[in-house]
Amino acid sequence: MTSLPDLTELQIRRYARHIVLAEVGGVGQARLIAARVLVVGAGGLGAPLLQYLAAAGVGTLGVVDDDNVDLSNLQRQIIHRTADIGTAKVESAKRALGDINPEVRVRAHSERLAAGNVERLIADYDIVADGSDNFTTRYLLNDACYRLKKVLVSAAILRFDGQISTYKAWQGPGHPCLRCIFPAAPSEDAVPSCAQAGVLGALAGTLGSLQASEVVKEILGIGRSLSGRLLMYDALSATFDEMAIAKRADCPTCGAA
Ligand SMILES: [Zn+2]
Repeated sequence: MTSLPDLTELQIRRYARHIVLAEVGGVGQARLIAARVLVVGAGGLGAPLLQYLAAAGVGTLGVVDDDNVDLSNLQRQIIHRTADIGTAKVESAKRALGDINPEVRVRAHSERLAAGNVERLIADYDIVADGSDNFTTRYLLNDACYRLKKVLVSAAILRFDGQISTYKAWQGPGHPCLRCIFPAAPSEDAVPSCAQAGVLGALAGTLGSLQASEVVKEILGIGRSLSGRLLMYDALSATFDEMAIAKRADCPTCGAA
């Protein structure tokens, strides 16, 4: 076995099932511990995503959300408990993540991500994972992550369908961004929300878990990135589909790259 840099005895035991993986090892685990990931949204996607990243030992986890826990969230947002109703989601999530892994530093950002704060919020992190529920946030993150050269792992769910991709268009040819697929955000009333159209609770678990896997892969630099591909999951038919995404020369965000 290779040496285990900077890992304590307790860390070697806690992360033993990672360390034994040839693709992770002690070096990879140390990299996870040194990583800083910002999760936008402590909702359906953020719940499994945050819990798996904390369990994996990702050393610094930021959580952005300005909502309080509501009774109607509990059907899918499994990081929150009934007793948390009425408390800020970032505080509820911070408590849950501390219970899972006290070694993780959780930074609660109790604010709504907007044009005026997006760059400040993402600046301190290496990777951003978007688990938000609206197009405004999704496009703000796409553009800001491109400008600040952050890897963005973005997922979305509605009804029984989910999709996920990774954007790092600043890395050049072969790496498209969200605007290479859809140049402009649809108006918010053109697409129904989960509140209007519904969403299968466990679907959030599937997509949020996929996001966690992709974030870990990006931190470690292992496997095949989802950059350049859109992965789609249909829970009703139990099928995955994949679409290749090309970089657009006239993309309003990354076209000049
Ligand atoms: Zn683009």
